[in-house]
Amino acid sequence: MVDKCDDKKCFKHGGVKVRGEILNGKVVSSRGKHTVIVERTKTQYFPKYRKWARGTSRIAAHNPGCINAKVGDMVDLAETRKLSKTKAWTVTAIVQGEHL
Ligand SMILES: [Zn+2]
Repeated sequence: MVDKCDDKKCFKHGGVKVRGEILNGKVVSSRGKHTVIVERTKTQYFPKYRKWARGTSRIAAHNPGCINAKVGDMVDLAETRKLSKTKAWTVTAIVQGEHL
């Protein structure tokens, strides 16, 4: 845990407010210093074919210095304003011992 946080895009210590939807997913890649790629797996049933189809979606999210999520972590995400070209989400917590 880091107590000091000078991240301007941190939802706790910076000027970013979270709103809207909350999701969770798994960190599959950390790109750059404060960005992670979170993958969500969703399964959908198609009655017509009696089959389950699995799809994944990837979301680029801000990873504040005080949270510091790593690849393999299950995390909670919250929607924010657009933080960069690709990011409009931020990691709000690391969820321990939870699976999708
Ligand atoms: Zn912070």
